[in-house]
Amino acid sequence: MLKTGRELFTTTPKTAADALKILHLPDEFLPVLLEETYAIRKKHKGNLVDIQVLTNARSGNCSQDCGYCAQSCDSKAEINKYRLIPYEKLSQNGSIIYARQLARHCIGLSGIRFSDREINEFAQYIQDLKGEVDTDICCSIGFLTPKQAKILKSAGVSRINHNLNTSRNFYSSICTTHTYDERVANIKMLQALGFEICCGGIIGLGEEAVDIVNMLLEIKEINPQSVPINFLIPVEGTVLYDTDISHLTPEYCLKILCLARLLLPKSDIRCAAGREIYLKDKEALMFYAVNSIFSSGYLTADGQSIEETIKLVTAAGFDYKIE
Ligand code: SF4
Repeated sequence: MLKTGRELFTTTPKTAADALKILHLPDEFLPVLLEETYAIRKKHKGNLVDIQVLTNARSGNCSQDCGYCAQSCDSKAEINKYRLIPYEKLSQNGSIIYARQLARHCIGLSGIRFSDREINEFAQYIQDLKGEVDTDICCSIGFLTPKQAKILKSAGVSRINHNLNTSRNFYSSICTTHTYDERVANIKMLQALGFEICCGGIIGLGEEAVDIVNMLLEIKEINPQSVPINFLIPVEGTVLYDTDISHLTPEYCLKILCLARLLLPKSDIRCAAGREIYLKDKEALMFYAVNSIFSSGYLTADGQSIEETIKLVTAAGFDYKIE
């Protein structure tokens, strides 16, 4: 009997072995995986795509040695470095998001720990921004104390991004200045305070397929509202610039996005950095799994414009919306 591929994987993966079967599925069966994944995406997320815009509100000069990051203390990458951006830039991006009816304003700050004075200064920005345009705000802002987290919550931050980035086993290969457990503890603290959580990872750091699976299983335990899947954008001067990424074919990347959807069917699955580089002419197929993307670039790298992103979404037969 001819195989259709459907018998080679389960759409409800419960174990690492189930999940690995999806990553190891022969490319010829990818259409079947996409079709099955789409049925689940449609059930929980309809045909909508959230388009989010990221503002890098503080750039560079970080004390941490995350090997993938152009802002790390070990990076020689030539990037703009600045303390908190002028409020006007944040306000300008907020207005664009509001006017274009995009889903969310994500605001990233380089660094791992902040003084109370810095948090208060940033919280004032958020409060002013919420007073001008009422977009949903998510911040990526290192490790917070409970006191600092509460200040940001009162200012209007509803969601916080804190990624696991890779598997627990592989973590010390990409960062030595803080631990995986510190990341998990920060997320649990934020969850207990009532924040929505955005928690994902980066593919292409030199990890094995089993690391991707184990990272996604850890994220499933956390059960975040949003799961950004980034594909490494190799920035010259970063420690991981020369990492071999040749195995990250469009087909393999799509299988990873499908696995994320199947493991976390109700979460927002976001194809974040790198989609423009890795998915190539198969980019539109990502919407069979993901219901969220970034537009207008990433922390230290350019990306597709809002106009091009909207065209990509609508040409693929999907709608975009305010959340
Ligand atoms: S990922 Fe964050 S903590 Fe790590 S080096 Fe970059 S800015 Fe610092």
